[in-house]
Amino acid sequence: MRGIGEKNKALTGDRPSCQASIGRTFHRREEEFRQMRFSTGFFWVAFVAFVLTSGCATRVRRPAGSDPAIEMERREQLKLSLSLLLERQVRAWKVGNRIRRAGANLCANDVRYTFGFFAVDRQTFGKEYREIAGEIGLESGVRIWEVLPEFQSPETELKRGDEILEIDGEAVWDLRSFERAIQGPFEIGQLRMKLRRTPGDEIFVHLDGALACDYRAGVVEKDGVNAFADGKNVFLTTGMMRFVDSDDELALVLGHEFAHNRLGHLRQMRAQMLAGLLVDLAVAVFAGVDTGGLFTQLARIPFSEEFEAEADYVGLYFAARAGYDIYMAPNFWRRMAVEHPGSIRENMMATHPSTPERAVGLQKSIAEIEAKRIDDQPVIPEFK
Ligand SMILES: [Zn+2]
Repeated sequence: MRGIGEKNKALTGDRPSCQASIGRTFHRREEEFRQMRFSTGFFWVAFVAFVLTSGCATRVRRPAGSDPAIEMERREQLKLSLSLLLERQVRAWKVGNRIRRAGANLCANDVRYTFGFFAVDRQTFGKEYREIAGEIGLESGVRIWEVLPEFQSPETELKRGDEILEIDGEAVWDLRSFERAIQGPFEIGQLRMKLRRTPGDEIFVHLDGALACDYRAGVVEKDGVNAFADGKNVFLTTGMMRFVDSDDELALVLGHEFAHNRLGHLRQMRAQMLAGLLVDLAVAVFAGVDTGGLFTQLARIPFSEEFEAEADYVGLYFAARAGYDIYMAPNFWRRMAVEHPGSIRENMMATHPSTPERAVGLQKSIAEIEAKRIDDQPVIPEFK
């Protein structure tokens, strides 16, 4: 489980990418800077001309909206927006949780217990969301927001809105204290909580955990169709949440990103880029040539395509083990290709396989999983 409203990372770009973006340095020559200064000057002249002439552009007398009406609409829009964000967070968490549990024995030592509930602290949101959170039922304190039915029992029934007061006797007052207190239960699989459901009321619950891969999934508010793994967490953009047609497709994306974490790709990529950076520095120091980070970038290319293909393969196993429909996986990449035709072409400098390569690779993996199911073999990837 994870609270929402983690610091949003700057995630940009329309092509799906998986490793955390590592900044590129653009070196401009002096004349390019001069050109830029000229363009900036031109922009301001055009802007002032626009402002001077645009004053006479209105032609009609519109009915004026009153300030209270605008304020009411603003709050309504914020409420809808926060509800949608929470809904998307919960969806990513739910699908992710199912994959994490079903894939626990693929995750080696990267496992912890989960207790099947999603907690929220409204203080982690921006000021505007905090102001209206109470109106959608999100009160202050750390609150239970969603519970998986398989973790519920008549003795330990959790409800949306329950305030978490204590974990194993340790006080909880915000998301940070909650995260701190729950580390022990994550390790041992037993959780005792003191909750408040109604004012003055206190409830004690005891939950048994289920083992799961220790990779959290969350949503960041960005429009590009993207997903990222940072070695521990997985981030999906709102653009990706809109793009996925079904939970099966969402499971495919999450499985892929979990696989990056499981296979330690980011760590390896960083090591390669560090080696490239050392070459860049050596060339700069000994040959006096500024490479503009060329070797740092080149160092990631030979392996990143392999990493992506590996993550597609292991990710499909993650989705299959959790019972999601994997047969639509090639079609997902077909849809991605239609939206992003640039990804259809092969490119020597690309860090991702082309979409046709991915679709065909996934078809082969589907056949492999199908054969294992028919032979009643464990659905486990072929690790070297
Ligand atoms: Zn990837």
